[in-house]
Amino acid sequence: MPKKILIVEDEPRNMKVMLMVLRPHGYTLLEATDGEEALEMAVRDKPDLIMMDMQLPKMNGIEATRRLRQMPGFNHTLIIAVTASAMKGDMEKMIEAGCDTYLSKPINTRELPEVIAEMLARRQEDNP
Ligand code: MN
Repeated sequence: MPKKILIVEDEPRNMKVMLMVLRPHGYTLLEATDGEEALEMAVRDKPDLIMMDMQLPKMNGIEATRRLRQMPGFNHTLIIAVTASAMKGDMEKMIEAGCDTYLSKPINTRELPEVIAEMLARRQEDNP
């Protein structure tokens, strides 16, 4: 079974880049464009990993992450915060909300597949 990745991003251009970068790696890619849709899709499709933009319409990424972590079955889902803000306080908030790590925008497209593959592999070792 290919790993499922939910990409949450409201900026079409950024979404396009993420899809292009991740598509060749054989993942099942799902797309959500706001925080509410992200929650709905996460519940329905149970992704292995979520790329969570922090600045989103309807519900921001911090709130969406917090809510997901409170739901049963979502304590092991990997969540990568993606943000244009590089302020230290914001990073702390993201980790507190339950993000496993964060990446800053613009996304480093060469590193992204490695970061994701590593996180998924490590998670598999922890929870075989
Ligand atoms: Mn955004």
